[in-house]
Amino acid sequence: MPELPEVETVRRELAPVLARRRIDRAEILDARLTRPIEPGWVASELRGESIVAVERRGKYLIVRFGSGRALLVHLRMTGSFRTALNGGLEPDSYRRAVVTLDDGADVSYRDVRRFGTWLLVEPDELDPYLAIRVGPEPLEKAFTARFLRDRLAGRTAPLKAALLDQRSVAGLGNIYADEALWRARLHPRREAGTLSSAEVRRVHTAVREALEVGIARQGSTLRDYRRPDGAEGSMQDEFQVYGRGGEPCRRCRSPIARLRIAGRSSWFCPSCQPAPR
Ligand SMILES: [Zn+2]
Repeated sequence: MPELPEVETVRRELAPVLARRRIDRAEILDARLTRPIEPGWVASELRGESIVAVERRGKYLIVRFGSGRALLVHLRMTGSFRTALNGGLEPDSYRRAVVTLDDGADVSYRDVRRFGTWLLVEPDELDPYLAIRVGPEPLEKAFTARFLRDRLAGRTAPLKAALLDQRSVAGLGNIYADEALWRARLHPRREAGTLSSAEVRRVHTAVREALEVGIARQGSTLRDYRRPDGAEGSMQDEFQVYGRGGEPCRRCRSPIARLRIAGRSSWFCPSCQPAPR
């Protein structure tokens, strides 16, 4: 599932293709993408819109239009974009939408498992929609150690589960949460509310480092995630713990272990990240 670094990589590659262009044609091929809104209506509303910016909040892509409206895209499990700068997209049985821009470029959206969403929002709807779902951007100033401490305080949930709450750390998912906890040397099952101030500061720094490495490697290529130009990211070669069960910890050589937390696999080093008593 694409997380902040993967979505940011998509944003950086889509922005130069989409910005300052007008949508000449839009076709939505799967009603699930826009439900409960009728896909034909969304497609006709997109036609003629001029694109002023492509932004990101957490795992959401935000395509901002000259009208003040925005298209909010969530890739969920397997959503991705492909661009064909001179038109002529390759056939793709997983294509769910295509827009053609006024310079002839085609931008298609593919989604194997079909959990992704396209939501067209009115100018006054965007901020309230995001405000209740997504906390501060972890790589921006508003995400402070103090903010994180307040979010974790009093919580009995496992630390890993608490970090996956998008209102605590926007854009963090299973991969980068495991990577951050390994960097912070904290066990994923630690009770979130029991962290000392120093431990919270470690998590705060580790989250930022893990996400920054992910962005620098242009995201990880897992299953169906690809960059819009079809290239693969390289982050999967850099994982310290994620998916490395049984392999040696890069710090202490102990075998990486795996357990399930909140229904998701978690990888960690049992020696660097001691279990809570
Ligand atoms: Zn270790």
